[in-house]
Amino acid sequence: MRTALLPLALLALLAASAPAQTYDIVIRGGRVMDPATGLDKVLNVGVDGGEIAVLADYDIEGRTVLEASGRVVAPGFIDLHEHGQSPANYRAQIHDGVTTALELEIGVEDIPSWYAEREGKAPVNYGASISHPYSRNIAEIGKNPGLEGEALMRPLTEDELVKLERRIAMQLGEGAVAVGFGIAYTPGVTQQELNRIFTKAAGYNAVCHVHMRGGYNLENLNELLAAAEASGASLHIVHINSSAKKEAAKYLEAIEAARKRGIDVTTECYPYNQGSTLIQSHLFDDWETNPLYTDKYINEFIWVETGERLNRKTFAEKRKIGGTIITPPGYSMETVEMLVAHPLTMIASDGMWIDQGRAHPRTYGTYSRILGHYVRERKALTLMEALKKMTIMPAERVAGRVPSMRKKGRVEPGMDADLVVFDPNTVIDKGTYQDPAQYSAGFSHVLVNGVITLRDGKFVEDAAGGIAIRAR
Ligand SMILES: [Zn+2]
Repeated sequence: MRTALLPLALLALLAASAPAQTYDIVIRGGRVMDPATGLDKVLNVGVDGGEIAVLADYDIEGRTVLEASGRVVAPGFIDLHEHGQSPANYRAQIHDGVTTALELEIGVEDIPSWYAEREGKAPVNYGASISHPYSRNIAEIGKNPGLEGEALMRPLTEDELVKLERRIAMQLGEGAVAVGFGIAYTPGVTQQELNRIFTKAAGYNAVCHVHMRGGYNLENLNELLAAAEASGASLHIVHINSSAKKEAAKYLEAIEAARKRGIDVTTECYPYNQGSTLIQSHLFDDWETNPLYTDKYINEFIWVETGERLNRKTFAEKRKIGGTIITPPGYSMETVEMLVAHPLTMIASDGMWIDQGRAHPRTYGTYSRILGHYVRERKALTLMEALKKMTIMPAERVAGRVPSMRKKGRVEPGMDADLVVFDPNTVIDKGTYQDPAQYSAGFSHVLVNGVITLRDGKFVEDAAGGIAIRAR
């Protein structure tokens, strides 16, 4: 008995005299907020090997110490809807607190090459859906001219539909995170096509992320709910703000009712009342005959490259060249505020490719605009509610298909160290429609899988902590 006790006593003595553990990084003295658990407390965060190692209410040592007193420490933001997937986009998003940028709406043409291009180079975690519109182009005409191809206007033949199903299944097999649809850009889609592609998605436990058809009369939502119900697929309605416009409240009610019926449907919004898209797309095919397009209305379109407002002549010219525009206000800022605050919505940016240094301001400032304008200035929702919409809600939406997402969107020991440190009193977006290319203010530090990517408000050149978010 004595011999058994001695080593234990010796061990205890050794532990007491050994130097305290030194973590790779310590984030010191911040208000740690974790919407997944409700934790809201001043703590020190120890990070080791890319993961959160400890949340401590006592002093801990770190090889690198980042000060966070007076600031909030939260999970890095997870953006389900980011088209821009370039180094310039990732850099802008890091300044806005985003640590995971997913292109799930329109998606990409080829999953393996898209991931290969980013491997080991991205400062944020990255992932994409397989694109229904691009795959549809390929099934019809053997190539992908993008969202403006004429083929997108007509229903598919049975032969083409089979080709499309095969292509989508093959790309899901390559690990696509979801299936991305832009029904507004592919008006030829039928209910039968939706049902069949949703069925493929359901077979891979992939969520269908959908930009609905225009119309604003619930038929566009009902065709998607019908496909979800018939196939058992999960459905995510993208940018409910721009897809429902003035009817947003009605759409939210319909989504809530569908959830009560057992359909797995979720939604997201971005905090602006003007959209951005490609001028050459099918959305504007009727611009010369549709009475909506008065001279005054056309003058509300902004050409992103220069910030100039368009007129009848330049609108026609730009349609021929092709490029990105800001669309006129389609609904009130009260509608935006209602959507941002509603418990059902997640926050997603719909960020556009930064082209010649410019893109819709949502590309730069979506998350800081929520935190600065809607939480602090408007008090439309609490800080914890806002963080929930940016972290655990989107993480859980993807985790069914990509289990590694269960380690993201949380501040808990064992979770990935995707962390943001910001000042809730100063965080704000800076970009405007005329001068959009301005980084958000108020973020001190951003970690991506334990890699310091923003330090004291400055982007760390060559940071490449991002990993592939991929289902395989
Ligand atoms: Zn869209």
